[in-house]
Amino acid sequence: MTQRLPLVIFALVMALIPLVPGMPPFWIVLLDNIGLAALVAMGLVLLTGVGGLTSFGQAAFCGFGAYTTAVLTTAYGVSPWLTLPLSLLVSGIAAVLLGIVTVRLFGHYLPLGTIAWGIALFYLFSKLEFLGRNDGISGIPPVAIGSYEMLSPGTIYYAIWIAVLISAVLTLNLLDSRTGRAIRALRRGHIAAEAFGVQTPRAKLLVFIYAAVLAGLSGWLYAHFQRAANPTPFGPQAGIEYLFIAVVGGAGYVWGAVLGAGIVVILKEVLQSYLPYIFGGQSQLETIVFGILLVMLLQLAPSGVWPWLTARLPLKTARRTADTSLTLPARERAPSTSAVLLQLDKARKQFGGVTAVNDVSFDVKAREIVALIGPNGAGKSTTFNLITGVLTATSGAISVLGRKVENAPPQEVVKLGVARTFQHVKLVPDMTVLENVAIGAHLRGASGAVASMFRLDRADEARLLAEAARQIERVGLTDQIDQLAGSLSLGQQRIVEIARALCVDPMLLLLDEPAAGLRHMEKQRLAALLRQLRDGGMSVLLVEHDMGFVMDLADRIVVLDFGTKIAEGTPAAIKKNPEVIKAYLGAAA
Ligand code: ADP
Ligand code: MG
Repeated sequence: MTQRLPLVIFALVMALIPLVPGMPPFWIVLLDNIGLAALVAMGLVLLTGVGGLTSFGQAAFCGFGAYTTAVLTTAYGVSPWLTLPLSLLVSGIAAVLLGIVTVRLFGHYLPLGTIAWGIALFYLFSKLEFLGRNDGISGIPPVAIGSYEMLSPGTIYYAIWIAVLISAVLTLNLLDSRTGRAIRALRRGHIAAEAFGVQTPRAKLLVFIYAAVLAGLSGWLYAHFQRAANPTPFGPQAGIEYLFIAVVGGAGYVWGAVLGAGIVVILKEVLQSYLPYIFGGQSQLETIVFGILLVMLLQLAPSGVWPWLTARLPLKTARRTADTSLTLPARERAPSTSAVLLQLDKARKQFGGVTAVNDVSFDVKAREIVALIGPNGAGKSTTFNLITGVLTATSGAISVLGRKVENAPPQEVVKLGVARTFQHVKLVPDMTVLENVAIGAHLRGASGAVASMFRLDRADEARLLAEAARQIERVGLTDQIDQLAGSLSLGQQRIVEIARALCVDPMLLLLDEPAAGLRHMEKQRLAALLRQLRDGGMSVLLVEHDMGFVMDLADRIVVLDFGTKIAEGTPAAIKKNPEVIKAYLGAAA
């Protein structure tokens, strides 16, 4: 949701600043530096704040951008405008090569990986003969429009800030799209995103490239601003500083990058120019004071200054209205109730010595509600994970509509029409209910990153959001549609997960403890919804501990105990089964 008016005002103010009579040139240089840093930090917002991939190595991509234009303009006399796409391309290709290795790393290994190649590239820049080793390359020509050369800080200023504004708008557009939602889902872990068809490695690589291209753009501008390039500004220290900027501004916010760049660049400048007067030329002191001030700032605004600020401003977020007349094509329903949708044949899962699922066989037919019950640790959730491709079976076969899925990844299983919710809710807390639910319709849209950056995805997007709004209405959460998912009660969040799963237009709905945390009335509403879904042609497999709810709703019940199926039958038969009473119901009753 880009808001136009504040953006236009900001652009106007920035455009007028250099024209103010008596504006000290030094301020303009500062603003140039802020803009350059903001571009890199904006990439980090997407990579780290939104995608959850921490990178200390972004400065190296500035280096690729800067050195590409430096070499081509000085050694080969290529025009700077021609080197711009090449600089971006080289940064992007470097990101592909480094990204393929890096995005496979998890946890602490990922940031460590970026530090490693950040340092390695810094030394590479300083050792290569054709990059001028430590001295770098000087005599880079200025950017020119016709005969007008951007020689002064006040002229390149416009190039820098136009780049910042355009990048900000494109980034905001990207985030507010099908691809953007997929990227934002990454931070919540890959399992939920993949359950709805998101190719998470590809999404990670995309943000990696995007961030690198923004850094490359900054590097290109920097080279023509300084008219020289040397390794220092592209080293690990700068990489850490860019991350600082993104975090201080608010790592999840595009404008936080601009604000953070302003704060950090100005703070550093002020400390560098005034501290020596106060403390008598003690070098390095500013680094310490700088560090202390930043830590204090983060104490005050732990998720960054931008969200801290906007929370205190009387800003209204535009309410989204989805046009519910728009529809997506629906999946063909199973013709008869005899069709077998899901078949488990001696499915087995071992975790080391623990047999979580022990040669379990059962099936779910079309238009049927089957409940999977059993004590905690019986293997119910693991069974769900085997069916949906989160885990691969140790042995046995699982098929959906006759297609073998025991080795299929989650993205393939969902394509067959199997959608699920999670026992431990996996929503993106700082996305709205509408946006979270729309992730469920990921596979029913087609727009890619570039189309969404230029808002060419609006028709596709409107249909996805309309579908999401419709499913939210179906589960009775329309009043909460614009609220952040994290602000809802846990029971409501489970219902949001059901709406998200319904957006898949599933044949088979897998619900892991959907009624946990719901009040009596809400449980009844849920039961009514599930019956209505079944009558509409869907099948439901659900795990639930509330026996009243299960006995009332299920057509058939499968009972697991210690990973083994101990009974299967109608609710009436299961209630009376002595083995089930001994293992589970006795304790529950
Ligand atoms: P339920 O959902 O029926 O309560 P689970 O399927 O979550 O049970 O767990 C079944 C058994 O498998 C438990 O003993 C659990 O500790 C074990 N288990 C589940 N997931 C894993 C895992 N990823 N690694 C190791 N053990 C696991
Ligand atoms: Mg479970």
